[in-house]
Amino acid sequence: MPGTAAAPGTSALPDRPAETLALLPVVGGATRVPLVDGTSRVYANLDYAASAPALEAVADRVNEVLPLYASVHRGAGYLSQVSTALYESARTTIGRFVGAREDDVTIVTRNTTDSLNLLAGCVPGDVLVLDLEHHANLLPWQRRGATVLEVAGTVAATLDALRAALAAHPYALVAVSGASNVTGESLPVAEVVALAHAAGTRVAVDGAQLVPHRGFSLARSGADYVAFSGHKTYAPFGAGALVGRRDWLDAGEPYLAGGGAVRDVRPDRVVWTTAPARHEAGSPNVIGAIALAAACDTLAALPDGALAAHERALRDRLVDGLQAIDGVEVVRLWADSADPVGVVTFSVAGHDPGLVAAYLSAEHGIGVRDGRFCAHPLLARLGVPAGAIRASVGVGTEGEFVERLLGAVAAYLADGPRARYVVVDGCWQVEADSRPLIQVGGLAALAATAAAACGPALD
Ligand code: PLP
Repeated sequence: MPGTAAAPGTSALPDRPAETLALLPVVGGATRVPLVDGTSRVYANLDYAASAPALEAVADRVNEVLPLYASVHRGAGYLSQVSTALYESARTTIGRFVGAREDDVTIVTRNTTDSLNLLAGCVPGDVLVLDLEHHANLLPWQRRGATVLEVAGTVAATLDALRAALAAHPYALVAVSGASNVTGESLPVAEVVALAHAAGTRVAVDGAQLVPHRGFSLARSGADYVAFSGHKTYAPFGAGALVGRRDWLDAGEPYLAGGGAVRDVRPDRVVWTTAPARHEAGSPNVIGAIALAAACDTLAALPDGALAAHERALRDRLVDGLQAIDGVEVVRLWADSADPVGVVTFSVAGHDPGLVAAYLSAEHGIGVRDGRFCAHPLLARLGVPAGAIRASVGVGTEGEFVERLLGAVAAYLADGPRARYVVVDGCWQVEADSRPLIQVGGLAALAATAAAACGPALD
């Protein structure tokens, strides 16, 4: 049944992947969207890699704490003290979720991009990065003159190239993806850590796709820093985190200059405080941090292995089903990459990815992403420089969503779309779209805003 979830602690995995239920209930899991034929369907959200829906547990927690919300840190009032305690305990929970060591610092940021830009201002030396990265883990380093290493055709060969690069120059930091937002693949983090530490280099992990879909531990992996986003971790309330070694974060340039980051200010000088406050100037996102902590607690309470097993079953079915369709190609970077997360990118030979994505939405109620996924060098390396289509799953994904996608892609290739599609401002749309708008305040039109967003979406 759409919109249902397996009882927490029970297996959501039946023998047939098509019958897989959501692992946890998400807000909007049963929301219906209109189709061009006048009917409606439960929205098949296959775009978790971009932003995941809120867990119901997160929304409940936000509703619980909102009446207690007040200014934090310097407020003398009772609710200010309650809010401060909730914010600081959220910080502890977030750090614990990613295996923070005793002396690690947890900084509440806006998202992964923010976290990595913050860290980039604190690294006291040269940085090495691979060319497969999401722009969030490429541009902050490239901007400060990092060496960008080309990945090789296998994980093993890429680790060799990394070892050679680390031996050739003393890098302070290597920044690696925990899981690719295009293929779901990754280098084994513990092996990267071993190579890097042997060369005296620290490791930062872009955990945007890894943390919500597999979990991650700094202590167990030995990595020095991890960055991740609340909106990809079922807590879309504007917070993310950077967690890791204290020394660079205590000494680095304060990320933002402003209140809360200082010990003392005179007209002609300032004494900055230490991390985390050093990098959290301005009023913090208290509710965002509490929401992210609630998501961390909920994911951490799942039975061991349940998250990975749920996503693995859905990913395997997606990959096998797509590969079985003539004319569809699933892109992979490394055949020897172990246990990719539930992110699958594919192309449909001879068909514009934007058209296929518009068709999937308008005729089947399926949300995927098309374009270059903020990973231009990687898309070029994968042989799809003009873009592709990405389907991604998470705790709210049901087997039916995956089956629906497979059936819809097969029907598209067999019969073509039923509606007519046109390109408006570079964006594929249904011609004379008659789908009714969902009744919610502030939604005056869909087509105009979709077209306005289409340029960046192609990123
Ligand atoms: N890194 C990876 C691997 C991502 O997938 C993303 C977003 O898609 C980011 C970084 C940036 O995340 P955010 O937009 O939340 O800052």
